[in-house]
Amino acid sequence: MVSCIFCNIINGTIPSEKVYEDEHVYAFMDITPVAKGHLLLIPKVHRENVYDMTEDEAANLFRAVPKIANALKAEFQPAGMNLLQNNGSHAGQTVYHFHLHFIPRYDEKDGFVWTWNPQVDTLTPEVIGGLASQLRERL
Ligand code: AMP
Ligand code: ZN
Repeated sequence: MVSCIFCNIINGTIPSEKVYEDEHVYAFMDITPVAKGHLLLIPKVHRENVYDMTEDEAANLFRAVPKIANALKAEFQPAGMNLLQNNGSHAGQTVYHFHLHFIPRYDEKDGFVWTWNPQVDTLTPEVIGGLASQLRERL
């Protein structure tokens, strides 16, 4: 058994409720779902987080995204859906093999709660412009 829990799911050492697989990706139900249909999509190659992914690996992973999202939508008719991907413990990452959460949303009683608190006092349009300029340089 390798040390990564999701690599062990891919190689079958740890059981999972697989829903989709191709040459590049593996999708399976989250074991502690916050909503009906909550699942994870992972690359078969071990990559800790988004910073480690090549462009081709990212493209291969996201190619499967509409198919999976539409399957969830067709089967469970959620009112909405969040795609969530955490990088680093500060962002809530607990498993260090890249994974994209699919979280169908139903009503106020589903289990996904977040707080969106815009920092409009400090991140003014002028500051935003400076940040964009920095990123344009970098990119
Ligand atoms: P994150 O906090 O973004 O790192 O999310 C990790 C997710 O992996 C959590 O939602 C866990 O419930 C899920 N998870 C951990 N172990 C397993 C497992 N053996 N099978 C399915 N999902 C798992
Ligand atoms: Zn892994």
